[in-house]
Amino acid sequence: MERASDRVIVIGAGPVGLCLSLALAQEGVRSLLVEELTPDNFLDQVPRAGTNHPATLEMLDRIGIYEKIEPRGIIAPLFHYWDRQANELIAEFDHALLKEDTRFPYVLQCERIKIVDEAMKLAQAHPLIEIRMSTSFLSFAQDADGVTALVTNEESENEAISGRYLVSGEGARSNVRKQLGIEFEGFTYPDRTLNIEVAYDFKRHGYADRNYISDPEEWSNLFHWKGPPERWRVHFPTEPDEDAQALQHPDALQARMKRFLPAGHPYEIVGSNLYTVHQRVAEKFRMGRAILAGDAAHVNSPIGAMGMNSGIHDAFNLAEKLTRILRGEAEETALDRYERQRRHIAIKHTQAQTIRNKRLLQEKDPAVRRRNHDELRRTAADPALARAFLLRSSLIESLREAEQIA
Ligand SMILES: Cc1cc2nc3c(=O)[nH]c(=O)nc-3n(C[C@H](O)[C@H](O)[C@H](O)COP(=O)(O)OP(=O)(O)OC[C@H]3O[C@@H](n4cnc5c(N)ncnc54)[C@H](O)[C@@H]3O)c2cc1C
Repeated sequence: MERASDRVIVIGAGPVGLCLSLALAQEGVRSLLVEELTPDNFLDQVPRAGTNHPATLEMLDRIGIYEKIEPRGIIAPLFHYWDRQANELIAEFDHALLKEDTRFPYVLQCERIKIVDEAMKLAQAHPLIEIRMSTSFLSFAQDADGVTALVTNEESENEAISGRYLVSGEGARSNVRKQLGIEFEGFTYPDRTLNIEVAYDFKRHGYADRNYISDPEEWSNLFHWKGPPERWRVHFPTEPDEDAQALQHPDALQARMKRFLPAGHPYEIVGSNLYTVHQRVAEKFRMGRAILAGDAAHVNSPIGAMGMNSGIHDAFNLAEKLTRILRGEAEETALDRYERQRRHIAIKHTQAQTIRNKRLLQEKDPAVRRRNHDELRRTAADPALARAFLLRSSLIESLREAEQIA
């Protein structure tokens, strides 16, 4: 007899929770996916991730999401490094160099909200995934046989739900991590990042769809998103004590955009938000039957676009292990390997790389800037070095390295 407790309880229908449920379902494993947002406000979330690297596209393709999001995104083989002070293109990288390494030698610029929208539709249609929206996870208990999660359901009643394993895909504020007393080790940057979305075609100025722009005064990132409305997102640093409202006043946003690139007319600003950036990795990714994945386990600066991507990689790694355990083909210790692999990648790749990326863009010492830019030029000009660089930036190298971890 199949008991309710044979399923996996997944908390959070973000990209990580949804990919986990879909990857489990594809292998015949049932899951119950709990999401506190309602059907009415699910697609009403703050803009966040959106650059999907080649390795992630392969995974999304396996569970049927790629074909849904490709028409909603921009295929972007190129990305640029610019020096804003000199108004000069430093280096151009072309993912075409990865054509022997991946079926997807490009990134897909497709926002998180479109991914969860399409993934949610696939999950809703899958008979092995039960979705409980408008349901908040509160706490859980575990024993040798399974887990019981306490939730507040859509009727605002407390309800206990049971499963064999519990995965927190709750994002950075994970209640599961807090309940387990797992340290979220790392630091928070004092400066917050201002994100301004504008309807303006930056390509006419020579920019690619993805641009990392170094400037000792005001570094930025510039990314292109498919409409409607067709728009570009520009990230800027802010001073730690600046007032959030003043920073986002329409005049202040216009002034910042005009300083960035005087367009000769006011910019059409379609949105803005301000966010705090953390570099943190959970001390443990698993305690007994409770497992952390995605932002619940690690958060990082978005410079380099690695948070959602590496979270989705967690989901696929975990799905494979949970499937084998539930089929009786592997011991529960396989989950320790999940922790060894994905925690290593979070620290040695995602954290290390995104910390380096931020340093590179904000470097103030002119001699170090020059050295950094020369290094980027040299790397981009040499196909072997450029390929190695792209293997790292596209997270393919991190997946290959994880495979080597016993
Ligand atoms: C400005 C910005 C840009 C970014 N750009 C990129 C990028 O280009 N590429 C990239 O890879 N990453 C990027 N990131 C990071 C990326 O957004 C996150 O890493 C990613 O969204 C994490 O996915 P997740 O599923 O783990 O968590 P989340 O996306 O946070 O989803 C968590 C889900 O769990 C639900 N939930 C939370 N608590 C509960 C509860 N108690 N009960 C029930 N449900 C709950 C939430 O409602 C939500 O739906 C960016 C982040 C920011 C801020």
